[in-house]
Amino acid sequence: MDIPAMFSKAYREIFQNMSEGIIMVDERGTIAVANPVAEQFFGYEQNELNGVGIEKLLPERFRNGHTTMRFGFHANPRPRRMGVGRDLLGLRKDGSEFPIEISLSHFNMGDTVMVMAFISDISQRKIFEQALKHSEEQLIVYAAELENKVQVRTEALNQSVIKLETEVKERKKAEEEAKKSLEKERELNELKTKFVSIASHEFRTPLSTVLSSVSLIQQYKDRSDFDKIDKHVNRIKSSVNHLTSILNDFLSLGKLEEGREDVQNETIRLREFLEEIIEEVNASLKEGQKMKMDFASEVSEVISDPRILRNIMFNLISNASKYSEPHKTITVRCESKNSFIHFHVQDEGIGISMEDQKHLFERFYRASNAGNVQGTGLGLNIVKRYVELLRGTISFHSERGKGSIFTISIPS
Ligand code: ADP
Repeated sequence: MDIPAMFSKAYREIFQNMSEGIIMVDERGTIAVANPVAEQFFGYEQNELNGVGIEKLLPERFRNGHTTMRFGFHANPRPRRMGVGRDLLGLRKDGSEFPIEISLSHFNMGDTVMVMAFISDISQRKIFEQALKHSEEQLIVYAAELENKVQVRTEALNQSVIKLETEVKERKKAEEEAKKSLEKERELNELKTKFVSIASHEFRTPLSTVLSSVSLIQQYKDRSDFDKIDKHVNRIKSSVNHLTSILNDFLSLGKLEEGREDVQNETIRLREFLEEIIEEVNASLKEGQKMKMDFASEVSEVISDPRILRNIMFNLISNASKYSEPHKTITVRCESKNSFIHFHVQDEGIGISMEDQKHLFERFYRASNAGNVQGTGLGLNIVKRYVELLRGTISFHSERGKGSIFTISIPS
């Protein structure tokens, strides 16, 4: 049967010139006719496919399955796409396979149902798809590699940043330490220079007193004037005491500067401790000066460093005496309040001006009214640092011409 003849001229044109392959198959699976495109797809000559079984266009391994499906389609024919969800392959005459896409339709011719298959060769598309898939895979690999590289670089960068930060920190620390030790050295040098100038100035008076008293004693000895001898022996004693106290101040300061002054705590019985100090200090008071003790503490013992506490009290009492006229009274008061023991040293001396009060604890500072009173301006600076070593505080109240009261407080 010349199938194209059964179409009108227009359909025949479409059938011949469609860019898709068209194959018509009868109920037995025999190809009635194939258009030129289909023949070309499968590598057959014109009309060579007519009368050939459709399964011949499939690779051997699919043929059985296809026959079953073909029967199914004939039993219930309706337009549909073939091979949804899987790749279809066609078999060329030369035995090579190629990917195809097929849509099925049907029509009745007399009492036979004819199946019409529209076939597209999707080799190119598959190649594209394959290439796309390949590039996608490559892209994924590349992206992963890139990510990896970025991660490695970021890590390396982080490491260098951390290293850099550490280096900067260390350098800063070293610079600060160098600066500190330079500052310390400068301070020590200043201290040494000051010491030399103070020593040459402060030592001169007591030393010349000692010298003159010694030669006077020699003269009084010849005359057996024992009262005068006693007087000069006392002068020598007080000059030597003064020299010793200056040297002690320098030694204490040196130790404090070098951080060698350590605290050795023990139990101190407060009343006995203060009585001892007062007794000792009595000998070096000015003429007619009196010491009074007012013990008002409910706490009788404290754990602290007796050597340091003693130095503090000596210093404060010695100042109270030095900066008061003869015949004045110095009061030492001890009281306990708010977990602290407070020691007050009160005098009726020359007092300290408001302006001088601001600088009182500075090293080498001496108030404007200190006049001829011997001193180095170190005592209160040392006292303050000692008090801090005992975790205590120091304060004072003073009025020019009326007197001063110095208070130290240490934890009880
Ligand atoms: P200094 O060796 O001069 O006595 P300090 O450091 O002990 O040194 O005291 C510093 C200055 O504070 C003194 O020079 C003095 O002017 C003043 N000062 C200290 N204590 C008293 C006081 N009880 N009364 C008056 N002035 C005082």
